[in-house]
Amino acid sequence: MKYYVGIDFGGTSMKIGIINEEGSIIIKNSCVTDPNKSGDDIIKHIAECTQKVINNSKLPQKDIMGIGIGTPGLLNPETGVLKVAVNIPNLNGIHVTKGISDILGKPTFLDNDVNTMSLGEFYYGAGKGLKHVIALTLGTGVGGGIILNGELYRGASFTAGELGHVSISRDGKSCPCGNNGCLERYIGRDGIIERFMVSKNKGVETSIDKYLEDGEVTPKAIAMAAGDGDVLSIRVLEETGKILGSVLATLVNALNPQAIIIGGGVSNAGELILGPARIEMMKLAYSIPANDVKLVRAELGNDAGLVGSASLAVANLK
Ligand SMILES: [Zn+2]
Repeated sequence: MKYYVGIDFGGTSMKIGIINEEGSIIIKNSCVTDPNKSGDDIIKHIAECTQKVINNSKLPQKDIMGIGIGTPGLLNPETGVLKVAVNIPNLNGIHVTKGISDILGKPTFLDNDVNTMSLGEFYYGAGKGLKHVIALTLGTGVGGGIILNGELYRGASFTAGELGHVSISRDGKSCPCGNNGCLERYIGRDGIIERFMVSKNKGVETSIDKYLEDGEVTPKAIAMAAGDGDVLSIRVLEETGKILGSVLATLVNALNPQAIIIGGGVSNAGELILGPARIEMMKLAYSIPANDVKLVRAELGNDAGLVGSASLAVANLK
């Protein structure tokens, strides 16, 4: 059996684990780094944490094939250099993959966490057995990963899949990226809350108050209220699905995927969003590819980051 290490690097904290070639997690642990250390010392610390997990697994060193690292931030997946790290400026410009592989002696790979999660779903989740898959994460932001002919498609500048910044309206809401009408501004966490609050503030009746978390309206609270029949919440999620579906129709026409997989915290609303999204997608897409695509939820849940990171090593070493 072959094994792959995944490092789900979220800034100062990370999850480290090992999966077998069937995608099952053998062991996992978490590790925290001190952002004030030098870049080289942080790399050393990550390598030490990883070595500990490998040692604790009691697996033979030779069966550990490689290491995949998934992280937010700007990076070059071909060189393994982290250009702009999230929350750890000392890692900016550091050759992360070389640093780790020099210490641990294993081939090491780096990519953004949306791409790695997409690979995880492709190999071991909702995309298992397929060839052409698009994965989207709906959360604070909206991100995407595109897998065509069994390979992750990164594009000329490694920005392929930036679906959150597809403009759905030239005169739409302004986005921090400089564009107007970005998808993320409507169906990202804040976009959903904003659309809900506009109606609530106008006096539209809602039972949301029963579901608030620390007094705060969240997509989770909206989904819970919708599940209990709150009409405004249902409508806001339906609208979320329709906006999503219209962009998915474009992707279906452009790329003809077999599956579109939706993950991320907001996707926990499930069919309350996916149902309307599917109807809209089927309505707007060209019928031949529309009939061949399935729109489903991601399957890896809380382990998506870890299994995804390890899957990056799988993808590079297969
Ligand atoms: Zn944008």
